Amino acid sequence: LIELTGVSKRFGSVPVLQDIDLSVGRGEVVVVIGPSGAGKSTLCRAINGLETIDSGTVTIDGRPLPAEGRELARLRAEVGMVFQSFNLFAHHTVLGNVTLAPRRIRGHHQDEAERAARELLDRVGVVGQADKYPRELSGGQQQRVAIARALAMNPKAMLFDEPTSALDPEMINEVLEVMRQLAAEGMTMVVVTHEMGFARSAADRVVFMADGRIVEDRPPGEFFSGPHSPRARDFLAKVL
Ligand code: ATP
Ligand code: MG
Repeated sequence: LIELTGVSKRFGSVPVLQDIDLSVGRGEVVVVIGPSGAGKSTLCRAINGLETIDSGTVTIDGRPLPAEGRELARLRAEVGMVFQSFNLFAHHTVLGNVTLAPRRIRGHHQDEAERAARELLDRVGVVGQADKYPRELSGGQQQRVAIARALAMNPKAMLFDEPTSALDPEMINEVLEVMRQLAAEGMTMVVVTHEMGFARSAADRVVFMADGRIVEDRPPGEFFSGPHSPRARDFLAKVL
């Protein structure tokens, strides 16, 4: 469903993605881990066309992601993204946040958008907060709204960039639980996270990145029981 071939990207003279080949099949959950500065966020942003690439190709469901234009907007709408910082629209209610894009971009009617939004908010366990504003919600609730908002566009895949890193510890699990449920329902997911428990239990593959390269790409059982590369071994020694 998501295919990267020979993707490279530099910021000035710094290579941040170096010849990345990555293939994520339909329904697959790929967890991306690695040290700070490895290029994990840049990889996510490249998949979603938020970052231009210098060379290589990204295809979504067989269609190459162009650098700009209508087709980029269309493909971007098919890949939902959830960031570390809760970037909800502060001046819209929870319901407003979840209905905005379906109404503006998909042209859904208000009633239809609201019905779908309430269903999604129920799925992520915050339907009781529908009429509140983001500032009235806990971080965990805001992040679950962000997930519902992304799902409202009916995406083919979801990207998560450290969705729990900014959360207080007691709220991490409620967000991971929603992600586990999504994974179990067959959503195609790319998840950047430091939550090794999630990687172990929910990932089909663990991709370890360092210095802009994919160093390892293996099932979690294999990866955690004995990574081959010294970089991965170092990294695991620090985080486990
Ligand atoms: P972290 O775990 O800290 O989030 P990461 O793996 O997500 O790290 P990236 O954010 O993708 O890493 O950054 C990779 C490299 O690219 C870093 O060296 C970073 O400083 C650099 N970088 C990222 N964005 C920019 C930018 N807009 N301009 C210049 N350099 C950038
Ligand atoms: Mg990052």
